[in-house]
Amino acid sequence: MKVFLDFDNTLVDLAQGWLDWLAKEKYIKVTTKHIKEWDWLSKTYGEHVNEYWKTPNIYDDIIPIPGSITFVEALKRIYGRENILIISNSAKNMIDEKTIFAEKYFKILPTNVLHVADKWKYTSEGVLIDDAPHNVIDHVKANQTPAILFNYRNKWGWANLKEPVKFVTTCINYADCLTELAKIKKKFFSK
Ligand SMILES: [Mg+2]
Repeated sequence: MKVFLDFDNTLVDLAQGWLDWLAKEKYIKVTTKHIKEWDWLSKTYGEHVNEYWKTPNIYDDIIPIPGSITFVEALKRIYGRENILIISNSAKNMIDEKTIFAEKYFKILPTNVLHVADKWKYTSEGVLIDDAPHNVIDHVKANQTPAILFNYRNKWGWANLKEPVKFVTTCINYADCLTELAKIKKKFFSK
């Protein structure tokens, strides 16, 4: 069984740096719970909130979500290093930074880091773990294999389903993800 891990807000906290910057530079104070959709901030406050993303070397200031490094280590041990992939819809200017980050913190080889849009096209042989509802929904619909919607400690306002979706389970921490993956392996990938 392959496990496809989204990167931003599944393994690293991309939101907090942005929110800290907004508070400091734009005097906008919000928490991740307020963000019901990823473009909610620009729709509410204007495009200037996205200036943050032009900051060079954003990943220098970004840290892995607590527990994510241990989680990835456990996944490699249980499912085999070659079966753990990072899949991320990366802006062009962030591809190198993210790949280096993935290798440094998660010891994932660059060949197992995929920078793609339409993730579902690449995830047919496994499970996708992702904080974006549209990615998990597209994956289960196209591939008929399960996905985990990751909503870290229930703090991500956007990582919720409007209604239950077949094959999608929500997990709010990494321990729950490991338990869910074991169930998925037994049910879907035990042949
Ligand atoms: Mg994400």
